[in-house]
Amino acid sequence: MAVEMHAGLASEGGSKLKMLLTFVDNLPNGTERGTYYALHLGGTNFRVLRVHLNGQRSSIFEDEVERQPIPEHLMTSTSEELFDFIASSLKEFIAKEGDGSNISTSRRELGFTFSFPVKQMSVSSGILIKWTKAFSIVNMVGRDVAACLQEALARKGLDVRVAALVNDTVGTLALGHYHDPDTVAAIIIGTGTNACYLERIDAIIKCQGLLTASGRMVVNMEWGNFWSSHLPRTSYDIDLDAESPNPNDQGFEKMISGMYLGDIVRRVILRMSMESDMFELVSPKLKIPFILRTPLMAAMHEDNSPDLREVARILKEVFEIPEVPMKARKIVVKVCDVVTRRAARLAAAGIVGILKKIGRDGSGGITGGRSRSDTKMRRTVVAIEGGLYSSYSLFSEYLHEALNEILGEDIAKHVIIKVTEDGSGIGTALLAASFSS
Ligand code: ADP
Ligand code: MG
Repeated sequence: MAVEMHAGLASEGGSKLKMLLTFVDNLPNGTERGTYYALHLGGTNFRVLRVHLNGQRSSIFEDEVERQPIPEHLMTSTSEELFDFIASSLKEFIAKEGDGSNISTSRRELGFTFSFPVKQMSVSSGILIKWTKAFSIVNMVGRDVAACLQEALARKGLDVRVAALVNDTVGTLALGHYHDPDTVAAIIIGTGTNACYLERIDAIIKCQGLLTASGRMVVNMEWGNFWSSHLPRTSYDIDLDAESPNPNDQGFEKMISGMYLGDIVRRVILRMSMESDMFELVSPKLKIPFILRTPLMAAMHEDNSPDLREVARILKEVFEIPEVPMKARKIVVKVCDVVTRRAARLAAAGIVGILKKIGRDGSGGITGGRSRSDTKMRRTVVAIEGGLYSSYSLFSEYLHEALNEILGEDIAKHVIIKVTEDGSGIGTALLAASFSS
């Protein structure tokens, strides 16, 4: 990972890791004041939120959040339809503020959390490089995402300025840093997966000449696209990738994130049922891609009942496999375990790669010579969010286990993984505050 990070920072297209510039050179520090909005477009959900900041760290007042699933047809319709939906949601949200609110009538400012790869021109503009997850709106790629939103806001008659266009990981990092200045990186593991971290500007060779007051800049790694021949890829991964709408892309994400884990499990069970008499008959439902969602896979994995009742129920409900014998139930749990354990360990290895790149993995960097335990290790916080990490306890358990194993306990105790609930949304509002006009 660290090697690919170097390559991606050296030149445009130098690696499958895009290592995108964010133009975020300063992270919120607690002095921010005012009322700001954030619109969050995730992989499956859309959120509108408003925060009040009174200039004292830890006193973010998040007074309203509205969350709704993104209507599936909008993921593949036109950009106008998608952005009109977003702008309408904001309009309704603002309309509810009413007259009694304490919100000043001056122009509102918002941050837009956009969880897809964007080539930023500034902190408040950037063009869509490609869609990931289940999104695919053809006329959007290559267009300025913030401008599309700004236009939609104007169509709805809203006087709101898009002050920051922010990748969700960067929002997570911003909130993490707001609460704890030792936060240097942020990871999201939900429908998809991505990471960002704070890099020295002189290490970002491809932005030659660009200077920032802080001497640093947040880099959006787009790590979901990480690729290495060392990745433990199986025929299931190869088939899943080949049959996906984006073959050869997002290889790391396809082994790690919530959108895919259930389907890897389905593929393994399908093969087993074809090559053995595990379930007597091969249920045709087993052949339907993505029919097994990751939360249900997790429920089977975490079934603690002595007779694995939940496993049997889900296999029946999802695949219409009746009467699964105990032996087969156990095998299914084992398959879920292997798939999730691999995902969590890969994510952990990715985190260590980032720490290595910024000299926080305890290896002592170029000073070398000393043993790992002698090296003075600074407290290092990694902010994390996403449904897979926060709702799938065995996943997070395996991730922590792997971090300890790779770093060694002496080093690992200085590395703190901190969940930032709703961080990507609130953090984006914080960035809108930092970069407000
Ligand atoms: P998004 O990635 O769309 O922004 P989230 O971070 O909330 O949204 O992640 C949602 C994803 O997390 C779901 O698509 C699912 O794959 C995964 N997930 C949610 N709940 C669970 C659960 N209980 N067990 C396993 N995975 C879950
Ligand atoms: Mg998200």
